[in-house]
Amino acid sequence: MSEPDIYLKQLELGPMQNFVYLIGDPERREAAVVDPGWEVPRILDAAAQDGYRLTKAFVTHHHFDHVMGLAELLQAADVPVHVHRDDAPHLSVARSSLKPVGGGDTVLVGRLPVQLLHTPGHTPGSQCLLVNGRLLSGDTLFIRACGRCDLPGGDPAALYDSLVNKLKPLDEATVLYPGHHYADTPTSTIGEEKRANPFLQIPTLQDFLRVVGR
Ligand SMILES: [Zn+2]
Ligand SMILES: [Zn+2]
Repeated sequence: MSEPDIYLKQLELGPMQNFVYLIGDPERREAAVVDPGWEVPRILDAAAQDGYRLTKAFVTHHHFDHVMGLAELLQAADVPVHVHRDDAPHLSVARSSLKPVGGGDTVLVGRLPVQLLHTPGHTPGSQCLLVNGRLLSGDTLFIRACGRCDLPGGDPAALYDSLVNKLKPLDEATVLYPGHHYADTPTSTIGEEKRANPFLQIPTLQDFLRVVGR
């Protein structure tokens, strides 16, 4: 069975090198925005210029640099916001707009299935989106780095478990699309990160806790 084609656009927006994504179904011309933290008019323009109607939103976690544009977005497009149930209480948008989700859920954008992986550690409700061989990893996994776990709600042991047991086992060809442009390149693959990301080389939780200073 062949995977449906995908529309994917990576936009670097705002002063913190955030990546905002548009993902969609090229046949139905429906798209979802992922992590609308900044410059909402530019996100809307990009979708419109490419001929896509926004039908959904996702957030990888509740930090302000990933969600700050939600209110403005919802004024322009009344779309459901898919957020992990553990991070949902931190969002200050109308409850009626929120669609709390959990790990293992699949959400359709047009006919494009978006699989949600619960990857706690950076925040309790951090989630990664697995869609057509691509992983949108939010602030959980970066190119050659991983997310901080010393902020409120951060949990180093949970982050280690997410990295080792949820992301490392993914197909090595999976293309990595992180939540920030912190590296020399905007994308990587799970295989490359398994070989070159120092945080994926750490053999035990005890060693990981030592490295992240806990
Ligand atoms: Zn964050
Ligand atoms: Zn961030």
